[in-house]
Amino acid sequence: MTTTRALVAPSAGAPFEQRTIEHRELRDDDILIDIAYAGICHSDIHQVREEWGKAIFPMVPGHEIAGTVAAVGPGVTSHQVGDRVGVGCMVDSCGECEYCKDGQEQYCEKGAVMTYNGRGYDGEETKGGYAQQVVVSERFAVNIPDGIGLDEAAPLLCAGITTWSPLRRYGVGPGSKVAVIGLGGLGHMAVKLAAALGAEVTVLSRSEAKRKDAEELGATSYAATEDAENLKPLRSSFDVIINTVSADLPIASYLRLLKPLGTLVNVGLPPSAFEVPPGMLIGGSRSIAGSNIGGIPATQEMLDFCAEHGIGATIETISADQVDEAYDRVVDGDVRYRVVIDTSTLG
Ligand code: NAP
Ligand code: ZN
Repeated sequence: MTTTRALVAPSAGAPFEQRTIEHRELRDDDILIDIAYAGICHSDIHQVREEWGKAIFPMVPGHEIAGTVAAVGPGVTSHQVGDRVGVGCMVDSCGECEYCKDGQEQYCEKGAVMTYNGRGYDGEETKGGYAQQVVVSERFAVNIPDGIGLDEAAPLLCAGITTWSPLRRYGVGPGSKVAVIGLGGLGHMAVKLAAALGAEVTVLSRSEAKRKDAEELGATSYAATEDAENLKPLRSSFDVIINTVSADLPIASYLRLLKPLGTLVNVGLPPSAFEVPPGMLIGGSRSIAGSNIGGIPATQEMLDFCAEHGIGATIETISADQVDEAYDRVVDGDVRYRVVIDTSTLG
C-alpha cells in the first residue's frame, strides 16, 4: 500500500481533517501521481454536504487534479516518470462499450468510475485529489502541456472540459453568439473558451459586480439578471446559452433569449424540475439540453487548445487549512474564479 497525506471529510458537512490515507499498489496499467494542485469544484461541495443524496464517508474530494508522474506500473506505455499530467472526474471505465470506444467514457455502459465518492470495479472506494498523491489507470491521465502552469491547469480538468464539451458539440466558432449564465468556476471557463473559439460572448450574472471581470475574460457584453428588464433587449439573440448555475432559475425567461433553432445547455444541476411552456420550444424550434463533463480525448483536445491560446483558469491559491472557509466563499459566489489547493501545504 502507498500512503499519502490527504484532506478528509469525515462525515457529511463536517470540517476537513488532515489524515494519512492509503492507495492501492500500482497495477500493471497504473500511474502514481505527485499532486501539486487540486481545484475546488462546486460539485465537491454538493457531495461533501450530501446535497446530491447519500455519499461515501470518509471522503477525499477533488476531481481537478494536476501534478507529475512519480511512478509507473510495468505495463504503462503512455506516461513516464516526470510527465506533467492531469486527472478529472473519472478514473476508470469498461473500455469496451460503444461509448468508451468513441472516447465518451462518461457514458460507459458499465458506469464510469468517479474519481471520488465512487467505487472501482473491484469494490474499492475511490479517493480524489485533495491529497499529495493519487493512483489512477494511465488511460485516465491526460498530458498538461508545458505552456500551462499546474495551478491554473487543475480547474481545466473539470470546469474546462465541462464547458468545452457543449461549445464543441453545438459548433461554437466565429459568428456564433453565446451567452453564459453564472460567472463562477465553470462560467468563467465557458467565457474564455467561447471567446477563444471566436464567438461573441455575453455574460448573464446576478448583479453588476462582475461586469469588468467578464470583459477581461473575453465577454463583449454583460447583463445583470437581478433586474428582469435587462433581459428584454436580449430576446432572440443567442445561438447557444450555457447555464452553469446550480440553483433554480426561471428557465423560460432564458429560453426566450435563444434565436430560432438555438440551444440552451444546462451544466449546472438545479434541484427542481424546469417549467418550460412547450410553445416556447416549438415556436422557434428551440432546444433545451444537458451536458455531462467530457471524454478523455476531448479533455486532451481542450488542454492543447488552452496551451495554444494561452488559456488557464483564473485562480486563487489556498493552503490545506483554508478549505472549509473556501467552501463557504464558493457558495457565496465570492471566489474570483476558482480556488485551487496547494497540496504541498498538507501537514
Ligand atoms: P460556482 O463556482 O459556485 O459558480 C456558480 C455560479 O452560479 C456563481 O458564481 C453565480 O454566478 C451563480 N449562482 C450561484 N448561486 C446562484 C443563485 N442562487 N441564483 C442565481 N445564480 C447563482 O460553481 P461551479 O463549480 O462553476 O459549478 C456550477 C454547477 O455546475 C454546480 O452545480 C456543479 O455541481 C455543476 N457541475 C456540473 C458538471 C457537469 O458535468 N454538468 C461538471 C461540474 C460542475 P453569478 O455570481 O455570476 O451570478
Ligand atoms: Zn467538477
